[in-house]
Amino acid sequence: MEMVFCPGCAGDVHDGSGACPVCGASQAVAAAPGIRRNPFMLIACCVLWSIGIWFGALFLVGVAAGDRLSEALGGPFLLASIGLSIGLTVRGMLPGTAKPVPQAG
Ligand SMILES: [Zn+2]
Repeated sequence: MEMVFCPGCAGDVHDGSGACPVCGASQAVAAAPGIRRNPFMLIACCVLWSIGIWFGALFLVGVAAGDRLSEALGGPFLLASIGLSIGLTVRGMLPGTAKPVPQAG
């Protein structure tokens, strides 16, 4: 059975299963050529946004509460930034990760 790329969750789904068992995305969208999201681009965007969110959050904390607190929160903030970025990437809510719009009709 052929595996096809799911644009909803960037995972592989079985061809002919109708909808992705993970995220429920329609397989018609997944199988349509030319509108797939490049998983490598998604990963790159996800990593860049993780770092961007992390630095942004640490910078704001550093300005608001001082460098010492900013350093103490570096680890937890990094994990939170990665989690947030992955979540937003999967949902296509970050620039560069937008889901392709299925052709109407
Ligand atoms: Zn999926």
